[in-house]
Amino acid sequence: MYSQISRRFVIVPLFGVAFVWSYFSAVRPQPGAVPVSYILTEEGQQVAFDKGTYQYRELTKRLPIREPFPSGPQLQQAFQRYGLDRNPPSRVVPAAIAPNVYVVGQDRFDNLTYMIDCGPQGVAIIDPTYVSEVERTVANVEKCGHLRKDIRWVLNTHCHVDHSMADKKFQEMGAEIIVHEADAAAIEKGTQVTAYYLLDWDSERQMPRKNGSAQFPRCPVNRRLSDGEELQLGNQKLQVIHTPGHTPGSVCFLLQVDGKKLLFSGDTVLYDYRVGWQDNPYADNRQYLASLQKLANFTWNSAPVLWDLLLPGHGAMALDKAYLDVGKARDLVEADLAQGKHIEGVPYATPEYRQRMFGRPALPFENSQNKQANEK
Ligand SMILES: [Zn+2]
Ligand SMILES: [Zn+2]
Repeated sequence: MYSQISRRFVIVPLFGVAFVWSYFSAVRPQPGAVPVSYILTEEGQQVAFDKGTYQYRELTKRLPIREPFPSGPQLQQAFQRYGLDRNPPSRVVPAAIAPNVYVVGQDRFDNLTYMIDCGPQGVAIIDPTYVSEVERTVANVEKCGHLRKDIRWVLNTHCHVDHSMADKKFQEMGAEIIVHEADAAAIEKGTQVTAYYLLDWDSERQMPRKNGSAQFPRCPVNRRLSDGEELQLGNQKLQVIHTPGHTPGSVCFLLQVDGKKLLFSGDTVLYDYRVGWQDNPYADNRQYLASLQKLANFTWNSAPVLWDLLLPGHGAMALDKAYLDVGKARDLVEADLAQGKHIEGVPYATPEYRQRMFGRPALPFENSQNKQANEK
């Protein structure tokens, strides 16, 4: 190694600055992604929690049912009261989830961005989220051993701003933008479907304001997807599952890794009874239920699919038994619609969720990463 380097430096004066540049740019960064940390839940499921999901979920187990579920400043007080503010889990990003699959982004709105290593042809990014996250995401891709120019494909699970706003930036870097045909126009035109609450972007605070004109960075879509399509990206193959309801063009992606079935579920299924935000005027609850039933009964080569990993657009990730979450989402939406009730996207404060959870043993937060390090 030493002699190789010194030999190159001897040649430098002959070729000048251009050679130095090409030498360093040819050095690929070392992979720096740790295995994702998880804890084992009461249901025997390995879950990579984000801080918020962990705190809310633990609070529902401890807060007496007769007490109203806190909000605003009272919420922080309640976390303190039960010690949930001390040492909550912190998920390190980037982290390796499965062979060739990484989480490369999590922002403060709890959005998640994934990367799939597709071999020599490059990498795919799923849901690059906000423009404000682009450089952080690229830096994480680099930590996983790839270069900015390796980002060949950007997939959106749907057109909402918190998943697709950065598409344009990645397209400018050379990536192809891939979206379901029913959500493509929203990304190309920046309609209110994609930017429903991006009515005005406050660049100083990097947050949407409530009023004003849409400022979504419109982006031409390179490839439009349809249901059942097999998407070949380098040496990886993803199955496209059209799951409308949250938006007309919402999709999930199935990726098989080492015999495991990974479900990139966007906002269609989230962990533990959390479901899509159905209050926007473009959501369709009947379609949503049909999509959840479709996922719960999904077959592959005529065999029923038992989902293993749930890699959603927000919050906690399930590293096994994802079929539990698919079933929970279906049951919740089915029950809410049968009773003519509003679909509550974030379940923690609902009486049903609290009844189900109250009195369950607390999860001792144990960092599996530390455990693995200690075992070595
Ligand atoms: Zn959404
Ligand atoms: Zn979302």
